[in-house]
Amino acid sequence: MNPTTTTESILKLAIQKSGRLHDDSMKLLKECGIDISNGINKLKSEATNFPLEVYFLRDDDIPQYVEDGVADIGFVGENVVYEKAKTVAIADKLGFGKCRLSFAVRKNETFDGPATLQGKRIATSYPVLVQKYLDENKVQAEIQEISGSVEIAPGIGLADIICDLVSSGSTLFMNGLKEAEVILQSQAVLIKNSGISNVKQAILESLIFRIQAVKQAKSSKYVLMNAPNEKLEAIEKLLPGMKSPTVLPLAAEGWSSIHTVMTETQFWNIIQNLKELGAEGILVLLIEKMVP
Ligand code: ATP
Ligand code: ZN
Repeated sequence: MNPTTTTESILKLAIQKSGRLHDDSMKLLKECGIDISNGINKLKSEATNFPLEVYFLRDDDIPQYVEDGVADIGFVGENVVYEKAKTVAIADKLGFGKCRLSFAVRKNETFDGPATLQGKRIATSYPVLVQKYLDENKVQAEIQEISGSVEIAPGIGLADIICDLVSSGSTLFMNGLKEAEVILQSQAVLIKNSGISNVKQAILESLIFRIQAVKQAKSSKYVLMNAPNEKLEAIEKLLPGMKSPTVLPLAAEGWSSIHTVMTETQFWNIIQNLKELGAEGILVLLIEKMVP
């Protein structure tokens, strides 16, 4: 067999089969230029143009599979990584699946710090993380582990307080609850098995290189503007960026076009000053990939 096609030279990636992380995981691979047929009804699928095989699993199982080496790497929420406490390394943050693990109380109740939890019944799908919080704060409480729909627990009398994942807070609100205290900020991360071969490590590095180029591009914008030549120096002073901007003469006498890259926040911070200095025809464009 051709050595380049042995399983040893294919990196095995576990992603969520369906759920909140599935689409963003597939999208990230696509943005990295990796083509995979959608495997929603399949256990695994091989990339056609990158040495990668994708396994579709329940997110809760991903840390275990990666620890065991059944998969070499996985895309999974930090919340699951810490709850499962498996021996895996976090190799990169992926920038999607952002949420927080928070205590929530009935909306007419108050939460005055960890002491509020003393002697209470807490419903959660994250018993390990909640117990750790209780221990750190020297509080005793009873944990009711439930696997889903934690937000209904106070309403049906199963618990006084819940600890659950929150992103917008609308699920809590609809169930008459309010967020009281954040115990973990989470996003999807790339985890890896601690003993992968050098060949697989090299494939992983090229995957991470692509992921970083995609992430970098997402946080940056390509900004173009026209400006009178006598204001160029003042405008250049305002512009952030790694290198000096590109300045090209316009057909109109005494005017130039300035091209530069900045974050969206930087853009909003300086836009007013740019206009005051005479910049006009300002365009802000999406960047697809960015390699510093
Ligand atoms: P599975 O069937 O794979 O076990 P699940 O029901 O446990 O799926 P999802 O609800 O799809 O999991 O959530 C997957 C991950 O998405 C969470 O572990 C978390 O990292 C992330 N996430 C982001 N925002 C939220 C949110 N508002 N609520 C729940 N999870 C969120
Ligand atoms: Zn799950």
